[in-house]
Amino acid sequence: MSRSETLFQQAQKSIPGGVNSPVRAFNGVGGSPVFIERAKGAYMWDADGQRYIDYVGSWGPMILGHNHPAVLQATLAAAERGLSFGTPTEVEITMAEKIKQIVPSIEKVRMVNSGTEATMTAIRLARGYTGRDKILKFEGNYHGHADSLLVKAGSGALTLGVPNSPGIPEDIAKHTLTVDYNDIDSVAKVFAEFGQDIACIIVEPVAGNMNCIPPQPGFLEGLRKICDDFGSVLIFDEVMSGFRAAPGGAQERYQVIPDLTTLGKVIGGGMPVGAFGGKQAIMDHIAPVGPVYQAGTLSGNPVAMAAGLATLNELAKPGLYEQLYARVEQLLSGMQQLADQAGIPFTTNRAGSMFGFFFTREKHVTSYQQATQCNMEHFKRFYHEMLKQGVYLAPSAYEGGFMSAAHSEADIEQTLAAAKIAFVALAA
Ligand code: PLP
Repeated sequence: MSRSETLFQQAQKSIPGGVNSPVRAFNGVGGSPVFIERAKGAYMWDADGQRYIDYVGSWGPMILGHNHPAVLQATLAAAERGLSFGTPTEVEITMAEKIKQIVPSIEKVRMVNSGTEATMTAIRLARGYTGRDKILKFEGNYHGHADSLLVKAGSGALTLGVPNSPGIPEDIAKHTLTVDYNDIDSVAKVFAEFGQDIACIIVEPVAGNMNCIPPQPGFLEGLRKICDDFGSVLIFDEVMSGFRAAPGGAQERYQVIPDLTTLGKVIGGGMPVGAFGGKQAIMDHIAPVGPVYQAGTLSGNPVAMAAGLATLNELAKPGLYEQLYARVEQLLSGMQQLADQAGIPFTTNRAGSMFGFFFTREKHVTSYQQATQCNMEHFKRFYHEMLKQGVYLAPSAYEGGFMSAAHSEADIEQTLAAAKIAFVALAA
């Protein structure tokens, strides 16, 4: 038995399912998860000493690769000055100004500790601001695990087949309306009936929790117009797409401006961080300026701010995004070619440094329904072939992949060599 398998058995005795977040348990692919001991650049090493080229990047944050020297140094220096003060600090101003500069639709921003906190508070703010209770979300979009948002959600919830979790009162879930992603007609129909009661639309402007599905032309523009027509708040959940779809997120890539934006992952550089921000007129409804309450013992934590700021500073270096996009292109065009050669039905999606691949005969995957109808057996077998060869992909067909600046051309070539063997094995 491998050391990872031994650890997994031990973990299950003290931790529910052996993991502190469900998708890590490998339920989506079967088998036993690998326990990671350390990581550097594009690589992680497991408890048995095997090295993996990592395309998960801690589910998005590690856009510079693991333990980037500048991030590590800034984090250690901040830790030496003190782990937490619970007071205002100058670094929080620097962080807020930096976010405003990179994401110009954000006029004011509040730091929190996770993406879940960011989206939970953003919808509370939208409700407080509009005085309306209903919210609209999209089937297969995941916004964290707050009660109102864990309705027809993606990610681990989708993998486990429990889109509506027990423990969420009907009285809360009934205020969450769900419609189809990339289907503006379904949004218009719901607004025609409930528009005056809808506080906000919350959307992943690039869906990354039902695999990677970018918005179809006109979809985000349509959401913007409907929100304007009905006085509802448009929230872009850029916890995943922020700093990834483009430096300024999906709103920069697709040139559609939301009222509120939620952020996470990359802005923490690997530390627990989230944020929500947007128009001053809305943000000024948050306490202590306004009546909508939100708080946090560790919010704006100085060590987390240092890690996040160092990450954002590195991302500003010329050529970094071009390199990320070029690596994604190298990987996806190579995989497509290999799948075609092996006769395996396959297609890919991408948005900046986020990507997804699908085992399907469809040429383009644009909907949740298409994503869920892919060949799961192919995915699972491909997954384990790649893992065996030292390539760590997200252990679920409903998660996207993440490229980092540490991935070299040689890493991609090595990944493609592994993929060639995996596709041929599938075809056999
Ligand atoms: N929103 C999106 C789009 C996400 O992808 C996630 C997590 O994957 C969240 C919100 C929740 O963030 P966290 O896991 O930090 O609570």
